[in-house]
Amino acid sequence: MTWRQAAARYGAVAAVLVALLWLVLALQLESFFNKIEPTPLLPISPRARAIHDTSFVADLHADSLLFGRNLLERSALGHVDLPRLQEGGVGLQVFSLPTVVPFGLNIESNAEPGFDALTLAGFAQLSPTAWQGPMDRALYRAKQMRGYAKSSDGALRLIENRADLDRLLAARAEGSDITGALLSIEGAHAMEADPANLQLLFDAGYRMIGLSHFFDNAYAGSAHGIEKGGLTDLGRRTIQEMEGLGILVDLAHLAPTAIDEVLDLVTRPVVVSHTGVRGTCDNRRNLSDEHIRRIALGGGIIGIGYWETAVCGRAPADIARALLYVVNLVGADYASFGSDYDGATTVGFDTSALPTLTQALIEEGLSDLEIRKVIGENVLRVFLETLPLTGIESD
Ligand SMILES: [Zn+2]
Repeated sequence: MTWRQAAARYGAVAAVLVALLWLVLALQLESFFNKIEPTPLLPISPRARAIHDTSFVADLHADSLLFGRNLLERSALGHVDLPRLQEGGVGLQVFSLPTVVPFGLNIESNAEPGFDALTLAGFAQLSPTAWQGPMDRALYRAKQMRGYAKSSDGALRLIENRADLDRLLAARAEGSDITGALLSIEGAHAMEADPANLQLLFDAGYRMIGLSHFFDNAYAGSAHGIEKGGLTDLGRRTIQEMEGLGILVDLAHLAPTAIDEVLDLVTRPVVVSHTGVRGTCDNRRNLSDEHIRRIALGGGIIGIGYWETAVCGRAPADIARALLYVVNLVGADYASFGSDYDGATTVGFDTSALPTLTQALIEEGLSDLEIRKVIGENVLRVFLETLPLTGIESD
């Protein structure tokens, strides 16, 4: 063997080792961020099983796209993939995408980062998101979701309009195990303050946008930003254009002033895709009674999360208690699931165990009708009211 052959051989071995190291790093990344700390689940009664299996179940928030896993395959990592959605009886999952994530984020105060955690995560995943800007990251992940839908043999369907949703409902009513996926953005800064980018996000399939995420941006103040202010002119204009296109406004993470200003402005129901309520878990992240009342008054829905900061626990009973709080305050038409699965959260169970929440709602004393609304029908109602009618026209 000449020294050239030796160099080529050892070079190849070194390249494989480096690739394996990256792979381990990429896998470790998700096991570090998205954890399950098993909590005792409730035995599922025949009543819970019957309600769950014959209801349309929906969840308003999972960040699973961020981690680059093939969502068609069952994984030991994270909280959501197609097989686990099917096992949990989920008819519609909103897949949300943060596009800029500060290092060391916290719920009290964060500045917009120059170099962000998703840049590093992108390198670990060998993903182009490492060097992409927020808008390109959003377009890249939407394309990835379309790819999953395309390779799923019809089992995962992207929902872009009311006609898609009607078709999904009809197929599920006939017994097909099809899951709908709806794309959402966490933080309007994804649009990089360019008004033309809203149409591009719409064309890519995004149908829900949370105006701010962990820092104040050019659109609105964040509950975890520095100033925690209201809406900017660009934010106001964007909301009006979103309503025109049929893109839902998500109030999650918004500063209280911004929530008030959005509610003054909107003409359609809004969502809070993942939150808790101060009535059961009092912190800056969670909704006040006043905001819950105003959101319900406009026909909007509140997605309750499954992690500690949202519900001060991880057990099914902690989540059910927050859902019940909303039901008791404003009625059963406004509470829904907003897990924040795969959102760098530690939860008590993954989406395959979702019937445990139906059981927990029974134990809180809700009626069958109320439970059906909370576990999915409320989400369905709002989407059927606000999404564009078909792929071509929007109203
Ligand atoms: Zn979030």
